[in-house]
Amino acid sequence: MRQPLVAGNWKMNGSSESNRKLLEELVSGLETKAEVLVCPPAVYAQQVRDQLAGSVVKTGLQNVSDKSSGAFTGETSPLMVKDLGIEYVIIGHSERRTLFGETDEDVAAKFNALVDQGIVPILCVGETLEEREAGDTMSVVASQIEVVLRAAGPERLANFVIAYEPVWAIGTGLTATPEQAQEVHAEIRKLLAKDNADMAAKTRILYGGSMKAANAAELIALPDVDGGLVGGASLVAEEFKAICHAA
Ligand code: PEP
Repeated sequence: MRQPLVAGNWKMNGSSESNRKLLEELVSGLETKAEVLVCPPAVYAQQVRDQLAGSVVKTGLQNVSDKSSGAFTGETSPLMVKDLGIEYVIIGHSERRTLFGETDEDVAAKFNALVDQGIVPILCVGETLEEREAGDTMSVVASQIEVVLRAAGPERLANFVIAYEPVWAIGTGLTATPEQAQEVHAEIRKLLAKDNADMAAKTRILYGGSMKAANAAELIALPDVDGGLVGGASLVAEEFKAICHAA
């Protein structure tokens, strides 16, 4: 019942020319039952959206402001995202949390600002290696999610996506084992079900962390893994396409 979602996070990579080539190769021969999304740097959103018009691949963004407009130099408003017709925005990526000091409360404010504009947040959560080794994985992930759920209130929880991304697996080549991924995904779904069983059953929970063509099928086949948030491999058309085909 949950359509898989495969989302590419390009991070701060690309140029007009390399984007054009990557998308050309990606859409050619792409046949998948998954919903497919690429999230370029904001400055390229319009280029990517225009090139993808008429294809099955959607355009998303990697971050957003919680403010609507005004003196917020360098920020992107949810109103602008909506104006471009963009449906999804990643929030709370571990790089935003660790490199730019975003707190759970900041992420919750962005979640609400997106939902209020009809944009679907992809909420990233995940534990560091130290937290996993200390046995704190689920308490860390639960608290990251609970802050957002509480700030949102039930009326804002009709349509959102969670991406479980163990920090130790992002960009490292290390991937969670299928057992580790399924265990956390199932716990996340249980946590959502405490609030609302229907919402828990329909909310997609993506795995992220060194997903590639070679491990995507096994991960996405897990009962509570509903697709992937893909960093490095989303920059290589054939690799990303193979992940979409595996979904
Ligand atoms: C990410 O940045 O969301 C990510 C999962 O990166 P990678 O696939 O490169 O580990």
